[in-house]
Amino acid sequence: MSVYLYNTKTRSKEEFKPLNEKMVTMYCCGPTVYSYAHIGNLRTYIFEDLIANTLRLAGYKVKHVMNVTDVGHLTNDSDDGEDKMLIAAEREKKSVMEIARHYEDTFFRHTSELDLKRPTIVCRATEHIEDMIKFVKSLEDKGFAYFSNGNVYFDTAKFEKYGALSGQNRDDLKHGARTEQDTNKRNASDFVLWFTSSKFENQILQWDSPWGRGYPGWHIECSAMSTKYLGERIDIHCGGIDHIPVHHENEIAQSEAHLGHEWVNFWIHMEFLNTKAGKMSKSTGGKTTIDTLKEMGYEPMHYKYFTITSHYRSSAIFSEEAMDGAKKAYENLKDYVAEFKAKVKNTTLSSDELTELEKLKSEFNAYLFDDIKTPLAISHMWGVIKDNKKSENIRLSYLMHVDSVFNLKLKDVEAKKPESIEITPEIADLLEQRKEARATKNWAKSDEIRDKLASLGLGVKDLPNKEVELIKL
Ligand code: AMP
Ligand code: ZN
Repeated sequence: MSVYLYNTKTRSKEEFKPLNEKMVTMYCCGPTVYSYAHIGNLRTYIFEDLIANTLRLAGYKVKHVMNVTDVGHLTNDSDDGEDKMLIAAEREKKSVMEIARHYEDTFFRHTSELDLKRPTIVCRATEHIEDMIKFVKSLEDKGFAYFSNGNVYFDTAKFEKYGALSGQNRDDLKHGARTEQDTNKRNASDFVLWFTSSKFENQILQWDSPWGRGYPGWHIECSAMSTKYLGERIDIHCGGIDHIPVHHENEIAQSEAHLGHEWVNFWIHMEFLNTKAGKMSKSTGGKTTIDTLKEMGYEPMHYKYFTITSHYRSSAIFSEEAMDGAKKAYENLKDYVAEFKAKVKNTTLSSDELTELEKLKSEFNAYLFDDIKTPLAISHMWGVIKDNKKSENIRLSYLMHVDSVFNLKLKDVEAKKPESIEITPEIADLLEQRKEARATKNWAKSDEIRDKLASLGLGVKDLPNKEVELIKL
């Protein structure tokens, strides 16, 4: 079955056809590790993981690369403001590297608590400075970069397609208009490829380069590292919608100017998680993290469930009421799994059951293959769970399939333990009477006692060794 994905580049849903049948290449912009990733950031990573899982479900192998920005990202995406890592180091009285490692470790702890698969390659900007310098050098040699007052800039006027992804005219001067103009730039939309100390005297992380000691601009790392690990053309590039107008435009300009051809087939962007008050962002104090959620009484899986009940191309609003709803639904889901596991003693399915299971699985898959329609996949799931006409065995197998894509830890749910039954003197007496009746083959009396036990909510099952097992009805 084909997979269809919405491509920001063409503004339409397209059939996904990989460049190489054997391996899908996917690059996702990773975290800037100067503070904790908030749950909005994690919404984007949850969906990226799900896109990779859906492609695996469709039979592809996926090579997923994610960068870690530990240098170069300024408080404004278009190269103005201060260095995010430096501000954090000063605030927390730690070295820039201590800051970077601490927030990177916490990021991966949180993604693993959300059961997101670690990308095939995680690459840090600071460990790829040589690759970036080579990339900038190539842009300079090809006439796309210029040196101005200590910094190297990308000349957006030289790249005709500049602005095509976001549908902006380069002359809109959007990036420059928002902030103080950098007078070193030829065009307001030009951006920095390499800073030298002329920009920040107290920049701690610096490297030698053909343009002097300095450090890379933020955008260049994604172009350099994706080309290094995924080659000159890639199938999918992901990120949040905020990246479309600056970061991704700049990535395209650098990469295509360097490579001389189109670079990415599918651009996929995730809509934002907002609060009732508006945008949730790290720089404006969006402090809700996975750890804060835990303090509020929610588990990471409650948040993952909440996330996938909306579509990645629709924004979602975070609230306690919404989280309470997700928590309840997820716990209910686990209860069903526990109950099915307790009831299914033999997981072998008959051939009719197998046919039915395959049909259900392909209905579920079809929602994901149609641009990752998670809300419809979830409602299909609840339809199957609540359909009492289907055997528990089918429902359980189907849920294990769902879990192989969503990774909601349903596989780890334990079978519900039989509830212990208190044997009151009355029940003990009835059981004794039933034993005698059966010994004397007084079946009418035995049936009468079984009915009395049923009226107390108990069923009775005869075991081979003449013992009986009481079960709650
Ligand atoms: P950053 O660490 O700020 O570079 O952001 C990491 C990822 O989270 C990027 O793909 C952003 O586009 C994305 N992002 C930022 N804020 C939000 C939000 N409120 N909701 C969803 N994704 C977001
Ligand atoms: Zn990027």
